[in-house]
Amino acid sequence: GGTLFIVATPIGNLDDMSPRATRVLAGVDVVAAEDTRHSGRLLSHLGIQKRLVALHDHNEKDRAGSLLAELEAGRDVALISDAGTPLISDPGYVLVREARAAGFVVCPIPGPCALVAALSAAGLPTDRFLFIGFLPAKRSGRRASLESLSSEVATLVFYESPHRILESVRDIAEVLGPDRETVLGREITKTFETFYSGSVHEVLAELEQDPHGTRGEFVVMIRGAEPCAGDSDEAILDVDRVLKVLLAELP
Ligand code: SAM
Repeated sequence: GGTLFIVATPIGNLDDMSPRATRVLAGVDVVAAEDTRHSGRLLSHLGIQKRLVALHDHNEKDRAGSLLAELEAGRDVALISDAGTPLISDPGYVLVREARAAGFVVCPIPGPCALVAALSAAGLPTDRFLFIGFLPAKRSGRRASLESLSSEVATLVFYESPHRILESVRDIAEVLGPDRETVLGREITKTFETFYSGSVHEVLAELEQDPHGTRGEFVVMIRGAEPCAGDSDEAILDVDRVLKVLLAELP
């Protein structure tokens, strides 16, 4: 059978396209892309002409079937998204899962990914992080989601669109407190790349002052909560011990 290549593409700077990624795209029989017009432009910039097939969240179940048939017929398929690494807040999960289940080789061609680029330059702890994707679009859902993450000790990372960045940062300040250390990576690898950092309160002020502050794409990173005594392993062991004692008393 054919091989399914999962190919990362640039998140803003075309020079980040790796030679290997270009070679793989040039070599496959079919390219599955989120937006075929957008990806058509990338391919023509690279001097590559390929059969393009649309694969997005709404048609992924159907399209996965026809792409599996291509693999079955011995043709190689590459999956790309509009920017960055496929499957990271982008389509592809159903296709990869089904391709693997059917025994085809699935081969990653690594490259740009906004969350990794952002974390690598933010200066926040990276030994543990939790990627949340996009927060809910509605205020109530967003606040509930932040609330549920308020005692998470890992660095929190999420994606946000320009029209919601201010609202989101305001909600972070209200739900997690104005002093939480926060870093925003904006327009990473692009001309107006900017990192805003400080307390949520300070970052909000910077955003509000910057005339370009709410333009472009953002990765939001928040320092995790300080581990509190109640969460320590010892406290959990204590609870275990008490439970055992109590359970032993049950008839
Ligand atoms: N698959 C992509 C990746 O590997 O990063 C992410 C796709 S997701 C639909 C798009 C979101 O990624 C944007 O809303 C933004 O939060 C983030 N993003 C993408 N490119 C970015 C960039 N150059 N700078 C900052 N954030 C970016």
